[in-house]
Amino acid sequence: MVLEKRAAPVMDEERETCPSCGRRSPVTELLNEGCKECNWMSPRLKKKEILVQQYAT
Ligand SMILES: [Zn+2]
Repeated sequence: MVLEKRAAPVMDEERETCPSCGRRSPVTELLNEGCKECNWMSPRLKKKEILVQQYAT
């Protein structure tokens, strides 16, 4: 059995386009860490950050 090169999209890593810069990133990365290219964050992640900031002050 010969394993083919991974030319096709990886099935276990769903990708989404960043709404800000259009970079393709794994959905989980966009949702959990935001975009590494332009620092865009999902609204849910922003909420979490605000909560963290409130706790810090
Ligand atoms: Zn981006």
